[in-house]
Amino acid sequence: MESFSEIKKIQKNLTDKKYSCTELTQQYLDAIAQKNGSLNAYTCVTAETALAAAKKTDEKIAAGGMLAPIEGVPMTLKANISTKGIDTDCCSKILQGYRPVYDAAVWELLQKQGAVLLGKCNMDEFAMGSSCETSCYGGAKNPHDLSKVAGGSSGGAASAVAGELAAYGIGSDTGGSIRQPASFCGIVGLKPTYGAVSRYGLIAYASSFDQIGPLTTSVEDAALLFDILSQKDARDSTSVGAQHLAVPALQQSLKGRKIGIAAEYFTGLREEVQAALDKAGKVCEKLGAQLVPMSIPEIQYALPVYYILACAEASSNLSRYDGIRYGMKAEHYTGVNDMIERTRSAGFGSEVKHRILLGTYVLSAGYYDAYYKKAQLLRRKIRRAFVAAFEQCDVLLAPTVPMTAFPLGFTGKDAVETYQTDICTVPVNIAGLPAVSVPCGTDASGMPVGMQLIGNTGREDLVLNAAYQYEMATRAES
Ligand code: GLN
Repeated sequence: MESFSEIKKIQKNLTDKKYSCTELTQQYLDAIAQKNGSLNAYTCVTAETALAAAKKTDEKIAAGGMLAPIEGVPMTLKANISTKGIDTDCCSKILQGYRPVYDAAVWELLQKQGAVLLGKCNMDEFAMGSSCETSCYGGAKNPHDLSKVAGGSSGGAASAVAGELAAYGIGSDTGGSIRQPASFCGIVGLKPTYGAVSRYGLIAYASSFDQIGPLTTSVEDAALLFDILSQKDARDSTSVGAQHLAVPALQQSLKGRKIGIAAEYFTGLREEVQAALDKAGKVCEKLGAQLVPMSIPEIQYALPVYYILACAEASSNLSRYDGIRYGMKAEHYTGVNDMIERTRSAGFGSEVKHRILLGTYVLSAGYYDAYYKKAQLLRRKIRRAFVAAFEQCDVLLAPTVPMTAFPLGFTGKDAVETYQTDICTVPVNIAGLPAVSVPCGTDASGMPVGMQLIGNTGREDLVLNAAYQYEMATRAES
């Protein structure tokens, strides 16, 4: 079967000596210099680090050594993944100039394999947003149409990968931040099961939802990266690692596989999104899967539950930015409280402040029971509803986003309207489940539509297998 893996293609070209890793890396760096002005995907380019890693790969090839699975492949990391000595500012003024003194677990794993880091990518400030536009650097743009957003919060990584400024990217997904920009930019984005990938070194937004995962141009690459990244890590107390390897499952047939279609995911979709999803469902049927109509009414609570709990956790996580321990500090102040107030007022953008206030409110003495506690109870209910759904099917098929990429500036207008666009992505973060977004067609103006495949806890293998079979069937046609 033909492979669409960009990672494998690059590695084959490297070992066939079509180009050296240094040449390839330089090509990427040149492309970034040329195109980043319009895409705004990178906020920090690490040419030296990249060329040093490339040189190592070239030396290994020259010595006749075997390449590790992702060795020598140029890639990018979201700006909230810690890299020792390299800017990790979460695209927030409050962390500008911050260079961690240690590497995130995922970056350790990738470095061990010989990854070539081209730079850090743009994102919504502290990963709060759906368009990348809350970044203190302004948003990343969509390579398919520069008047549209790349999505968020991992918009920079999605824009870089879709714009051919990196072979793959590593992002984070708290409520859709890998899948939604992947969907908007026409690439693959995997949010693993909560706990599958270590969060050590990921700058926290909402710790009980945050997960790291890959943004790639093919399902095979997403599976390859998942298998590398999903290692148990004692430094993250919620880490369990992978329960099933993804790559060995890709080739399995979908015959007899049950794909659940939960009605609640299919309300309020743009017509073209609905049409693309219907078509995708038919492809799955052709591949031998059985579509199982079902209902998960609890999904209706997902948005308020997510925004209450994520904001509550954010208000606690972001209390550490006080001008003393990290990043910026107000220049003029009269005492310690004044210094903290001035630093936080000047350092955080308005969306982050909004969420800190909302989170503080729902945790405050008089409102804790009414909001936070109730949301926790509903979270459990939603999780149980998914567990029950997976008694009737192997994976669920749903849209990733009810629409295609927004025009620039859309999300700044109405916070609630923007939050509502996360309706299809947040349920799995609430329930801790794995989900992948795969391209499944375009709208009338050629903007990509994404299909989401959702699995039970630890079943990345089933999710990626279905996505791979779908991708093989549809890409072969085009
Ligand atoms: N768009 C969602 C939010 O604004 C999700 C963000 C994320 O996954 N980091 O919170």
